[in-house]
Amino acid sequence: MSRSPAALVTGCSSGIGRATAIALVKAGIPTWASARRLDTIQDLAAAGCRLVQLDVTDEESRVRAVKAVEAEHGAIGTLVNNAGYAQAGPIEEVPLDLVRRQFETNVYGLIRMCQLALPNMRTKGGGTIVNIGSAAGLMGVPATGTYAMSKWSVEALSDALRYEVRDFGVRVVVLEPGGVITTGFAATEHETWPAGSGPYEKFRQNHRARMAGWTNDNARGMSTPDQVARVVVRAATATRPR
Ligand code: NDP
Repeated sequence: MSRSPAALVTGCSSGIGRATAIALVKAGIPTWASARRLDTIQDLAAAGCRLVQLDVTDEESRVRAVKAVEAEHGAIGTLVNNAGYAQAGPIEEVPLDLVRRQFETNVYGLIRMCQLALPNMRTKGGGTIVNIGSAAGLMGVPATGTYAMSKWSVEALSDALRYEVRDFGVRVVVLEPGGVITTGFAATEHETWPAGSGPYEKFRQNHRARMAGWTNDNARGMSTPDQVARVVVRAATATRPR
């Protein structure tokens, strides 16, 4: 068993998670990259990552992934809760089952990963939990209100947890990126707001145009996944106040 603290990153098939796994490995931290489908992260093995299947909405998968890391390292030293997605739609119309599904990933998946990692992190040398929140967790965002709800939850959870675990040598860091150039930003994969003829159609068209404008125009100050990954590395390697 290697006792060097290891990192576990959720949602590494693309975007911020992928960049973070690579950056952590480059920083010399043994890193486990995870994804729902292992075939999406095979190339991260060549970058030096260990791979583990992990769907953050599936308890069996969550437990198996945490145990795999702990079997080799004793504990997770850095947990990066990155898996998440945005969905679009006006509050009046967004189907509740889609809101629930989003919370299963963005909120319940995240809290459960904390619960599973903490017992050994707490007792075997401390560690850092990095929760990927969002600027949308700090303000109401029209057209992505339910996503903002989920990220406000991440803020509340992180603030509470930070105080609960600090005496155990565990730090809780929440990042609140603004726009980051990823497929997730365009929210195409999880688009829940199809074109229609309802009262919000004009609002939808304006929203799509605004999103396309941001995505196509880096000059508007969007970040890259690598930039966010660098902040995660800084959080993971910062000296821990005791
Ligand atoms: P991507 O869509 O590129 O990445 C999202 C990742 O989450 C994918 O790897 C996806 O895997 C994974 N994922 C989704 N559901 C699950 C699940 N149930 N279990 C495990 N993994 C899952 O988007 P980003 O990189 O942009 O998003 C990463 C995080 O950053 C998210 O939490 C997002 O909310 C946050 N964020 C993004 C911003 C942006 O502008 N891009 C701004 C602020 C925050 P799969 O391929 O299997 O779907």
